[in-house]
Amino acid sequence: MNILIKNANLVSMDSKREKIEKGIDILIEYDIIKKIGINLEENSEVKTLKENSCLEIIDATNKVVMPGLINTHAHIPMSIFRETVDGYNMQDWLTKKIWPMEDRLTKEDIYNASLLTFIEMIKNGCTTINDMYFMADEIIKAMQKTGVRIQTARALMNMVSEEDGEARFKEILELKNKYKDESKVSFNAGIHGLYTSTESYIKKCVQFAKENNIPVHMHYCENAKEVEDVINSYNQKPIDILVNNFKDVPVILAHAVKMSKEDIERIKNYNISIAHCPISNLKLGCGIANIAEMLENNINVSLGTDGQGSGCNLDMFEVMKFAALLQKGVKEKSDILNSYGVLKMATINGAKALGLQEQIGSLEEGKHADIIIVNMNRVKAIPENDLISQIVYNTNGEDVETTIVDGKILMEDYKLKLDGIQEEKVYEECEKIIKRIS
Ligand SMILES: [Zn+2]
Repeated sequence: MNILIKNANLVSMDSKREKIEKGIDILIEYDIIKKIGINLEENSEVKTLKENSCLEIIDATNKVVMPGLINTHAHIPMSIFRETVDGYNMQDWLTKKIWPMEDRLTKEDIYNASLLTFIEMIKNGCTTINDMYFMADEIIKAMQKTGVRIQTARALMNMVSEEDGEARFKEILELKNKYKDESKVSFNAGIHGLYTSTESYIKKCVQFAKENNIPVHMHYCENAKEVEDVINSYNQKPIDILVNNFKDVPVILAHAVKMSKEDIERIKNYNISIAHCPISNLKLGCGIANIAEMLENNINVSLGTDGQGSGCNLDMFEVMKFAALLQKGVKEKSDILNSYGVLKMATINGAKALGLQEQIGSLEEGKHADIIIVNMNRVKAIPENDLISQIVYNTNGEDVETTIVDGKILMEDYKLKLDGIQEEKVYEECEKIIKRIS
């Protein structure tokens, strides 16, 4: 199907265009943005599509049309662990609460928990998510059923045994081969963390990423205890391990809370992106990453929720607001992290982090049609004044009325359009899973 979105307030995030343009039409042909312009209904190609009844028209008058949001750090099936964290620090929560429950998860559980996350994404205007978990085959099956875009991996670690560590590489390669024709899934080398692997295994992971031309995705310096554990087991600081082993490979570091000014300066010439997860970091009492300093050093900073277990939910609008306000407050500077820069973190910077910037992250002719339509006709966003600031500070996921991924409408006018998925049934299944494994 082809789609014409009409008369939009366009926030394209394309650096070659104005930040906000009004009265803009967007033509989507199959999965691609074919044309962005004014009065496209006068265009002969559009007329032909209309005559042949091959065009769905969506009126976006007074609505914001923008790129789907990109969540660069999550654990897709952890939807079922929402609000299990209160009162725990990161290490206790993971080892005492989460890992024993995860041991009881079946393939079907992973599939259903993933469906819950994908429904939540679609309803909150997030079109791409970066994952790190296990049984990724089930996650990908759920992704195909719902139509969102993901980057995933079998989490890499050799904490269990060397054989287990090796087997995980094989698993990623098998998945990569199995889904080579699925354009909406890409892979990375998802190293669980320095604290769950040895240095020789970390070196193998980096080599694996290079050989397969995929990014590394790794939890890094999430809290003070992690830093202490890494120093104890490696006899080196995390920053030294990073600069010595992660050269010449694209890396997405989740959290990076415990990085000093000097640490940040040492990675500025590396191909490192940060997945900043402020809500998860606050909930687990980890601290606040110094993203103002990272941005000043031209490091690519993107945004993530982390799994809902610690990140609560997948509302990336909330994450944007937290990210901006925390830095302004902590630094006692109101002129840092302007709204447009914050919106970049949730869109084009996220695409860059995942190596997908040629395909998604901004609305440009030739890019994939991952688009959301946001209803700004809410009392909290009136009067309009600065539209970009309204998006960052006065919008949340529930204001997204239409979500399109790869040219396919997954939600229109707040109603999911997913074949063969009964929303209520997914909710019921997920309630049952958590009761059984708790
Ligand atoms: Zn995480």
